[in-house]
Amino acid sequence: MTWPNPARSVALNRLDLRSPLVLDTRELGRRPGASEVVSRSVPAPADLGIEVIRVPAGSDVELRLLLESVVEGVLVSGDLDVAAVGECARCLEPLERELRMDLQELYAYPGHGDEDTRTVVDDGLIDLEPALRDAVVLALPLAPLCRPDCPGLCSVCGMQLADDPDHTHEQVDARWAALAALQENDRTTDGRTIGDRTSTTENEEN
Ligand SMILES: [Zn+2]
Ligand SMILES: [Zn+2]
Repeated sequence: MTWPNPARSVALNRLDLRSPLVLDTRELGRRPGASEVVSRSVPAPADLGIEVIRVPAGSDVELRLLLESVVEGVLVSGDLDVAAVGECARCLEPLERELRMDLQELYAYPGHGDEDTRTVVDDGLIDLEPALRDAVVLALPLAPLCRPDCPGLCSVCGMQLADDPDHTHEQVDARWAALAALQENDRTTDGRTIGDRTSTTENEEN
């Protein structure tokens, strides 16, 4: 299921209140000190997250925000909850994380604020999506683990070490066997070169 994202597609023109991430600040009436609580569940936009862990598109994002009118614009602050899914960075098993993160963003009126401030557009609407993306990406772990002490995968066969912590491999034995075979060859060569058959035989028996 994909959600339309009118806010983004028309960002250069006007925000669309039909987008769940576009908030209406007109009730605040540009009166500094006025505030409004916004508590709602919105569908996550597409591509929210990073490669190893992300918030599925359309899943619930629970917003608890305070919109405050300040002289230069509208200050949005609060927190949000998401359920992220991903893979353990060590064992690659699927994992799910409930995450709560803070969000704070100043939306300035046109003509106020810095170059990089996301402005309140002309009709009093604000687009929460860029601030939401920043908050989520900052809060997501870069290397999520299924559990803190996940032992990961066996570097030889790739199996889950958690399933068999004592698991060992023939490979070590195979290397010793190869070394032993080399030594055996050396001894044979030495024996022929030196011609000391007695000592060679003693070595082989040891
Ligand atoms: Zn793991
Ligand atoms: Zn193994």
